[in-house]
Amino acid sequence: MKLPEFELFYPESLDEAVSAYESHHGSKPVAGGTDLFIAMKRRLMRPERLIDLTTLKHELSYVTEDEHIVKIGALTRLIDLERHPLVVKHFPSLAVAIKSIASIQIRQSATLGGNICLDNRCYYYNYGLAPGVELWEPCLKRSGRICHVTGKLDDTCYAVYSGDTAPVLVSLDSHVKIFGPLGERIIPLPELFSGLGERPFNLERGEIVKEVEIPVPKNETRFSFQKFRSQEVDFPLASVAVSARRGADGVVEEARIVLGALGCAPLRVRSAEDFLQGRKPGEALDSVVDLCRREAQFINNVHVAPNIRSRVLTKLVKGCIAEVTST
Ligand SMILES: Cc1cc2nc3c(=O)[nH]c(=O)nc-3n(C[C@H](O)[C@H](O)[C@H](O)COP(=O)(O)OP(=O)(O)OC[C@H]3O[C@@H](n4cnc5c(N)ncnc54)[C@H](O)[C@@H]3O)c2cc1C
Ligand code: SF4
Repeated sequence: MKLPEFELFYPESLDEAVSAYESHHGSKPVAGGTDLFIAMKRRLMRPERLIDLTTLKHELSYVTEDEHIVKIGALTRLIDLERHPLVVKHFPSLAVAIKSIASIQIRQSATLGGNICLDNRCYYYNYGLAPGVELWEPCLKRSGRICHVTGKLDDTCYAVYSGDTAPVLVSLDSHVKIFGPLGERIIPLPELFSGLGERPFNLERGEIVKEVEIPVPKNETRFSFQKFRSQEVDFPLASVAVSARRGADGVVEEARIVLGALGCAPLRVRSAEDFLQGRKPGEALDSVVDLCRREAQFINNVHVAPNIRSRVLTKLVKGCIAEVTST
């Protein structure tokens, strides 16, 4: 499959990138290109102009620690992050999640910003177009009217958010810095996600994710990330990220539980977190699993059936809780 024709713009500064992005309706930023170029080859997207953010890597590729906050530039490559001493020391679950993404070759180009801003996926969307053949009529996510999952002329798209770093970053209470035509804003990471399958991000045209900020956790906090995929190099079909802190009596004082690839955005399961708080993990486990299963969207739009993903979720939740509470 060949790439369609497009113009490539090499900005010399972030300001130039933003104004080029904002001023041209058919433009889009590209970082490592490991996802966007495939979408373009499959003709799922036809941007006329790509803003090549990699020319800004001297400005946007870094990992620093400042006043108990680790700051990571959006252009930092996944391969550099997975072995970075600050990540390994403070956020081991993030290092695990990154190492599980795609392959070493892909992680050598892929960036953190690109991973967070990964477009939502759906079997009917990603595989609907073979070269020159339209397998299904365009669905909502391709500006059509139908959803092939529900079979209805629906107004809801259930395409799944499948990035692996964001669920962990949410479990770590991260924020993102966004740079755009109106300047800079910092928001909690969950606010970046719209919850809509067809347009997953609350980003205006011209806005670029510039940095991720993660507070250094308290010493006693433990972390886990576990994921299920059907083959070695593939997108997640379900994932769970947990961070938790226990008191000396073994009771959970604070927990964050986030599901990945089970909805249109990373799903924080506050009901399960609240239930776990103040209890010993063993006493609460079955209810925590139930609450997570209630929150997850088991939609039939990936290549593994919903009932299998539901069973897998039980294992992942139990595995993560066991890991963060083992002595
Ligand atoms: C075989 C294969 C397996 C994969 N497996 C996984 C997996 O297991 N887990 C996983 O999470 N991903 C997986 N991926 C997807 C992808 O490779 C990664 O998510 C990668 O991290 C994307 O980063 P990138 O820099 O290449 O993004 P790009 O492809 O450059 O961009 C992705 C999207 O983000 C936007 N974007 C990029 N940077 C910014 C920014 N700074 N601000 C705003 N928007 C931005 C782009 O416009 C585009 O829409 C896989 C891909 C392949 C081909
Ligand atoms: S969930 Fe429905 S509308 Fe969304 S991408 Fe899949 S088929 Fe299209």
